[in-house]
Amino acid sequence: MSGRILVSACLLGQPVRYDGGAKTLQNELLDQWQAEGRVVPLCPEVSAGFPTPRAPAEIAPGTSGADVWRGAGQIREDTGRDVTETFRRGAQIAVAHARKAGCRFALLIDGSPSCGSTFIYSGMFDGQKRVGQGVVAAALREDGVQVFAPSDIEALAQALTGETRNA
Ligand code: SF4
Repeated sequence: MSGRILVSACLLGQPVRYDGGAKTLQNELLDQWQAEGRVVPLCPEVSAGFPTPRAPAEIAPGTSGADVWRGAGQIREDTGRDVTETFRRGAQIAVAHARKAGCRFALLIDGSPSCGSTFIYSGMFDGQKRVGQGVVAAALREDGVQVFAPSDIEALAQALTGETRNA
């Protein structure tokens, strides 16, 4: 089917977040897309081998998800452990999964060092946000996937309608 959407598994109620919880999105559009068989769930971090729960991680100050994807940035846990390569593996899995399933759209939870698409955290574990995207969002966008945050779900619906009309 055209118009398939890669969706962060935690938005679909799967308890895969670093704290062992989910971040379920209650939304009629998402319910409709699930019923239509458009939704392709994925947690890139768990797919890359991280356990749940796991230590919180942030993209180092001064670097971005796009930097990490290009091999230049760094992601660290709050313990200081460098987990960059495992996050990059998660992004590689996401790109491969989107290609295989034919997803030209993604709906990803915001703020995550993987899935964030409009903001991420400072890298200092101080709760401060900054404009930016995670490594999965950067990788998918570089591969031509249109990435949306839950706050932009209406824009995703419009993009999807456009694609379905043109299909
Ligand atoms: Fe959710 Fe993405 Fe984090 Fe997995 S990597 S828990 S899907 S935000």
